[in-house]
Amino acid sequence: MRIPKRVAVIGAGSMGSQVMWRLAARGAEVIGYDRFAPGHDRGAAGGESRIFRAVHLGESRYIPLLRLADGLWEQLQAETGRSLRRRSGCLVMAETASPAMRLLLSSHAAHGLDHEVLDREELARRFPQHRLPDGHTAVLDRMGAILRPEASVQAAAARAEQLGARLHRYTPVREIAPAAGGGVHIVTDQGTDHVDTAVVTVGPWINTLLPGLPRSIDVRRVVCSWHLPASHDWFAGGAPPFVRATPHDCFGIPSPDGISVKLGLSFAHHLPVPEPELLDRTVRPEELGIFRELISELMPDLNPDPIRLSAYMEGYTESGNPLVGHLPGEDDIIVMAGFSGSGFKLSPAMGEIAADLALDGTTDHPVGFLAPAGVGVA
Ligand SMILES: Cc1cc2nc3c(=O)[nH]c(=O)nc-3n(C[C@H](O)[C@H](O)[C@H](O)COP(=O)(O)OP(=O)(O)OC[C@H]3O[C@@H](n4cnc5c(N)ncnc54)[C@H](O)[C@@H]3O)c2cc1C
Repeated sequence: MRIPKRVAVIGAGSMGSQVMWRLAARGAEVIGYDRFAPGHDRGAAGGESRIFRAVHLGESRYIPLLRLADGLWEQLQAETGRSLRRRSGCLVMAETASPAMRLLLSSHAAHGLDHEVLDREELARRFPQHRLPDGHTAVLDRMGAILRPEASVQAAAARAEQLGARLHRYTPVREIAPAAGGGVHIVTDQGTDHVDTAVVTVGPWINTLLPGLPRSIDVRRVVCSWHLPASHDWFAGGAPPFVRATPHDCFGIPSPDGISVKLGLSFAHHLPVPEPELLDRTVRPEELGIFRELISELMPDLNPDPIRLSAYMEGYTESGNPLVGHLPGEDDIIVMAGFSGSGFKLSPAMGEIAADLALDGTTDHPVGFLAPAGVGVA
């Protein structure tokens, strides 16, 4: 009888829970560890909603990965009977002549992605809650959807456990060390385990556990703000989330509870987090000016006084591309980190790719361009 490979998954958050699911589905002996427990709100996965889009960073190299993720989201829902994603479409609004809009439209056209281009009149008729400035275009990405992050992390981890994985909750891993005779030692306060391979998915804690990665990861504090609409129904007509580029890069998601709209900003507005354990989770009044400005210019129907504020963390790379693959010089350690504010949608695809790398040593999915050493090509 073939002995199953023993694989440690360090961090059972957005990526790690999916890695555990895909590894357990393929018969590996899976041991997961998390500093907290699946579905917590202290890292990158909190805040009740995430956007799924057909195009990521305007980059066509992500399209096969998004297609893989799309199918696996469906499969996870079917296997767990949980509602994790609502197909709502996603509105993307930007200056018509901007490179971002041109790249978006060319990616949609080149890959036959289902979308609609809406001019000002059409947008005003169908989505009157949004103001579109002169010279701007709106695109409705029909593959767009709203994901439920906490429920997804819990569903993937629970499915992995049902398939035989073990998960050590409230068990931070202190050290990962290559073992002399092959494999990896995983050190926790409870002792040391030996595994064949370790997959490291610790999100914003990556610099604490693996300092000196070949590409640096900048950990930032990400604030979200929830607002009540006054009159327009943000929850009718499919209630698409949106991404806007002017006057500030921002996104918004009608909340799954049908009550409020969540707003968030892009990297330039996020403060550095020198030490993840000391994340400042208090949002101060002076941080709200930019949300007021966005609301008054683009979505005057929203009440600028928020009903809820929260702060999360995320790791960013300079290019926005995450690190995915074997650590240089370490055949038994795989890292997935630096998802730069947009990785959640990809998480089941990352689970499948980690399972390939851990069990077969390689993957047919085109992730060479994300290799941690930065030398791979797709
Ligand atoms: C506010 C916000 C909004 C976002 N919006 C979107 C969006 O709309 N669409 C989208 O696709 N993406 C979005 N993202 C990005 C996406 O959520 C992240 O890219 C993704 O969650 C990163 O997942 P992760 O697994 O790397 O980190 P996490 O989900 O934070 O998981 C890391 C896990 O590791 C555990 N851990 C840490 N250290 C240790 C240790 N030493 N031992 C054991 N366990 C450990 C933590 O407890 C945690 O559970 C958003 C991010 C934020 C913060």
